[in-house]
Amino acid sequence: MAETKGKLVVFTAPSGTGKSTIAKAILADIPTLKFSVSATTRPKRDGEEDGREYYFMTKDAFEALIAKGGFIEHSRHFDNYYGTLKSEAEKVLNAGNHLLLDLDVDGALNVKKIYGSRSLLMFIKPPSLEALRERLLKRKTESEEKILMRLARADYELSLADQFDVCVVNDDLDKAIAEIKRIIQNFLNS
Ligand code: ADP
Ligand code: 5GP
Repeated sequence: MAETKGKLVVFTAPSGTGKSTIAKAILADIPTLKFSVSATTRPKRDGEEDGREYYFMTKDAFEALIAKGGFIEHSRHFDNYYGTLKSEAEKVLNAGNHLLLDLDVDGALNVKKIYGSRSLLMFIKPPSLEALRERLLKRKTESEEKILMRLARADYELSLADQFDVCVVNDDLDKAIAEIKRIIQNFLNS
């Protein structure tokens, strides 16, 4: 992969911040930026499609792929595995496009270790933990127990935000999208 010129933009945010909503808008606006579809063992949510949001797989299949060296990085959180597929990243970068990755903090910091200045780590912050809780409740995709797990992890993730290249607060959605788009375009054109 090192010979291609494609760059990697990483979005990280506590679950429920609005990262997927922002990613959809950015991908629609920047045609050379393609989403890196990760693999996960978590159950599919209503409205999600295999191969679009994630490749959904069993724990056994995921572990077999780890053993075969199929991941650039992977991590385990919320009781499930998540990982960036080498095959998926190569497909996008070899076609001359850039990659947008949606990763947790650990995955993002691992990508920086591997790709250095070829990668841009963007941390998206909620305006407050209360706003985050309200967004998770409004999304209605997780049980109360799972929402509490996600909020508990938010503290850990927010404590690492200053290790990222850029931090943007997602308060007003349109403003956050405009700011993130400007930062990404500057990075891709640099
Ligand atoms: P993530 O991908 O970070 O887990 P989502 O994109 O699924 O989060 O957003 C979580 C919920 O918050 C969704 O219902 C979304 O419509 C809503 N949301 C996103 N951005 C904002 C915002 N700026 N203000 C209010 N609600 C928002
Ligand atoms: P969700 O279950 O809400 O889709 O995602 C939960 C968390 O997993 C989010 O923080 C998301 O960024 C992260 N995530 C998704 N795909 C990957 C991946 O391939 N690698 C890593 N390290 N984290 C991921």
